[in-house]
Amino acid sequence: MADFRVGTGFDAHALVEGVPLVLGGVEVPYPRGLAGHSDGDVLAHALTDALLGAAGLEDIGALFPSGDPRWKGASSLHLLAEAWRSVREHGWELANADCVLIGEEPRLAPHRDAMRAALSRAIDVDPALVAVRATTTDGLGFTGRGDGLAAQAVALLRR
Ligand code: MG
Repeated sequence: MADFRVGTGFDAHALVEGVPLVLGGVEVPYPRGLAGHSDGDVLAHALTDALLGAAGLEDIGALFPSGDPRWKGASSLHLLAEAWRSVREHGWELANADCVLIGEEPRLAPHRDAMRAALSRAIDVDPALVAVRATTTDGLGFTGRGDGLAAQAVALLRR
């Protein structure tokens, strides 16, 4: 009988001037971008942590410490691919993942397909297995004020 494991991931980064906005591996035209040691891609980070959590592995911060110069400015798709490699090495395959961006803007819809394609390419699975959606917090909290963006993800693995 198949063995299934579920994992969740959450991440948030501040929106700041002077850096590109990268979400789900896609550069989105917007006046501000996400601060971070890597490119700050909250969607990729949440998905990475969901996959690692489902496999019972350490979190993204343990695998890619923010003080490590190797990951400075790193593409989060690269971190996602690296994390996925360890998950695969433990014998897991992806059943599906669902990623939700939390913020008032920018609008995600025009970039959704490109994000699904980029995230699924990084982990070498069918884009149909990786959903990318968005929600607002109705103007409430740090995402509502536009101080930052957050993301959550859930992933189901099987072997
Ligand atoms: Mg992060």
